[in-house]
Amino acid sequence: MFFKKLWSNKNCKHDTYKLEADFSTDPIWCNKCGENLDIEDFSLSNILQQELECWVSDYGNWIDFDTDSLKEKGIEMENEHNKKGLDLLQKIKEELGVDYPIIFSPSTSGELYQGVKK
Ligand SMILES: [Zn+2]
Repeated sequence: MFFKKLWSNKNCKHDTYKLEADFSTDPIWCNKCGENLDIEDFSLSNILQQELECWVSDYGNWIDFDTDSLKEKGIEMENEHNKKGLDLLQKIKEELGVDYPIIFSPSTSGELYQGVKK
């Protein structure tokens, strides 16, 4: 296997993946057990890794943490972020090939915040 770490869930082979942004964590997860995977264990180009890092660091920009509310145009910002995520998913698929099935899980935190406001 290509994973260097010893995983907490040893019964899971971590062979299907999910791209999902979250605060300061690598954006690739096991789609079966939900383990957060180390992006360096995938053979992605440096450019793509940097793009992913940048994408993750933009995650949650639509939320104002001082007031714990959605920023103006927050939903638009989140939609843009999700669109970028889909772009990145395509690039990941191109680089990793068919042996690495990966899906995209879009962010819905903005919608949650909007729901709170209503
Ligand atoms: Zn797993």
